[in-house]
Amino acid sequence: MTKVLHTPADLVSAGLAPAGAAAELEAVAARYAIAVTPAVAALINPADPTDPIGLQYLPSPEELETTPDEQADPIGDSIHSPLKGIVHRYPDRLLLTATHACAVYCRFCFRREVVGPGGAGGLTAAELDAALAYIAGHPEVWEVILTGGDPLVMSPRRIGDLVRRIADIPHVKILRVHTRLPVAEPERVNEALVNALSGSRLRLAVGVHVNHARELTPAADAALAHLAGAGALLLSQTVLLRGVNDRVEILGELMRALVERGVRPYYLHHPDPAPGTARFRVSLAEGQALVRGLRGRYSGLCQPTYVLDIPGGFGKVPAGPAWIEPSGTGLTATDPWGGTHVLPDEA
Ligand SMILES: *Cc1c(COP(=O)(O)O)cnc(C)c1O
Ligand code: SF4
Repeated sequence: MTKVLHTPADLVSAGLAPAGAAAELEAVAARYAIAVTPAVAALINPADPTDPIGLQYLPSPEELETTPDEQADPIGDSIHSPLKGIVHRYPDRLLLTATHACAVYCRFCFRREVVGPGGAGGLTAAELDAALAYIAGHPEVWEVILTGGDPLVMSPRRIGDLVRRIADIPHVKILRVHTRLPVAEPERVNEALVNALSGSRLRLAVGVHVNHARELTPAADAALAHLAGAGALLLSQTVLLRGVNDRVEILGELMRALVERGVRPYYLHHPDPAPGTARFRVSLAEGQALVRGLRGRYSGLCQPTYVLDIPGGFGKVPAGPAWIEPSGTGLTATDPWGGTHVLPDEA
């Protein structure tokens, strides 16, 4: 298979959707973008409807059902957007969304109402000028986070140009890029792209979105090695998803696979209530039990921070279990195996 699958008919002809489902999936496709790259398609077992890779990318009629708690903008990007392309919620860092296209479209995406192919979400030259002027006018911005969409779907030439213009703003020290490309279309993380990203004075950090160890194929390894070779600090971002990675062993194996490849586990995201994503939802209590299970069984290197983006735009907060809690007049600590221990009084 050599082409990206974009339509229900494409999925049917690739054997990734039953022929009878095409008409029903057209309604989904009309609402939310579909893209399955050859690298991803090769990982999906079409005979298994519970395949953790297939679940992430193959559309389902369930996406047309929206529950009352779901929101088009679940983490409140728009209320912190002073102008198109910028989300500035924390003083020292901001998001710059130069494109809304991605190589693949994840069915649980928290920005699914805005991501998609075509120019709609991209910035015009004038809008990009304004966004860069905004950054230049805010000396408290230490870090620029390129996100989208997936910023690495832009051409190396456009990326290089953007990186140079950000590097021209003296108070910006760190360039962070959030991407799924190393697992979605690893062959595109080539020398030209890596040079475009890393060829400036900025310290480069790359947050790679990976949800299952099976996504870390030899081609993905090569993409990560390219980035690491250029001096990028590699971090992971994983979305906790029902049926995909909501088991301690699955998460633990993923974290190990990341560390083995030089990627530091960074965030485990509680799933955001984006429209039509109820089938992926895991409760906070379930998430906390998983995080408890990772501690003690897997190396400290394999412990991402479990975070909740408080719906409504109030920011990300650690959402892990409480290990130390008030009890009586003092504090009680819970160990990784469930034992509880009263702590000596503090002065
Ligand atoms: C997630 C996010 C960031 C990055 O947060 P970190 O905790 O630094 O990873 C920055 N800005 C916005 C608006 C975000 O949603
Ligand atoms: S790659 Fe990221 S932005 Fe694109 S669809 Fe997936 S989760 Fe959304």
